[in-house]
Amino acid sequence: MAKYEMYRQQVVETAQLLTRKGYLMATGGNLSLRVLGETAMAITPSNYDYMKMVPEDVCILDFDLNVIEGKRKPSVEAGMHVGIYQARSDVNAIVHTHQVYASTLAVLKKSIPALFDEQARFLGRSVEVIPYAPSGTSMLRNVIAKHVKTHNNAYLMQSHGALCFGHDLERAAHNVEILEKCSLAYLLALCTNQKINKIPLAVREIAFAKLRKDQKKVENGNSELGGE
Ligand code: 13P
Ligand code: ZN
Repeated sequence: MAKYEMYRQQVVETAQLLTRKGYLMATGGNLSLRVLGETAMAITPSNYDYMKMVPEDVCILDFDLNVIEGKRKPSVEAGMHVGIYQARSDVNAIVHTHQVYASTLAVLKKSIPALFDEQARFLGRSVEVIPYAPSGTSMLRNVIAKHVKTHNNAYLMQSHGALCFGHDLERAAHNVEILEKCSLAYLLALCTNQKINKIPLAVREIAFAKLRKDQKKVENGNSELGGE
């Protein structure tokens, strides 16, 4: 099997799964997977129908955005993905979506507090809104890289969409689903104008500590492999 085949296959499978489930629409959003032990990633091509995509369409780029393998134009957010991998050595997979309910909160600039146990366990202390910068720019890359250092695994991008991370693509894709459930529940709760209850602070901190423990294992694994 060619060197990057496994990475490319995983990118195709996850992109198609998330498209079928309605989290990726048209050609909006993109996803990537860190190549372990290298300063490189496999990332979706730009503006390309994910249901038509085959492994050869996936781009392999180094962290200077040079093409290692692949003939298609890489996602315009490739720089943003690299910025996240460089800022977060515990992250091996990134999914960026324009999923509807999370995007609604992103236009409202409304962070999601810790509402549910599984949210704190897998997404982190809260889902913060990262300030707006135009798509595909170095401004966006820089603002995202700065804000993801809080070690949460989900963020809202103001007036744009969402970002979910994981130690692998399966985890990142599950986080996309958890984020959408939390976003919808929060939006519905906000509509009632009633008091919104958060989980107890102590429970949130215990859950987040478990997430951090998992993240540190990945960080150590990556540093042993010699990737960035
Ligand atoms: P790409 O098709 O270039 O990945 O762009 C989609 C997107 O979501 C831009 O933010
Ligand atoms: Zn986008």
